[in-house]
Amino acid sequence: MKTNYSSELFCGHCGRKGLARVLSAYSERDMETLTSPCGYLVKQSSRPWGTAYILSQCMRCEEMNLTKIDWHDDFSPADYTYTILYPASGFGNKYKQP
Ligand SMILES: [Zn+2]
Repeated sequence: MKTNYSSELFCGHCGRKGLARVLSAYSERDMETLTSPCGYLVKQSSRPWGTAYILSQCMRCEEMNLTKIDWHDDFSPADYTYTILYPASGFGNKYKQP
């Protein structure tokens, strides 16, 4: 998982996007194997992907947010899927679809 996702984090309290302070990050990763035929050889390469949970503090309103990130190594942080878990009914919940 690329580490410069903090500029993509969204505050569920005040609606500010970007530059949240990441207090804690937990990431699960898995691997998928991509198989591409290449002449007589079958080339296999692994692509890490997974789900991360980010506890962050908004630099504007200083409230806490818990954001779930579905990430894939092929994507840039701007293309990850971000879901705000806390606050549950906050502004911008599910603000980005894949
Ligand atoms: Zn905020």
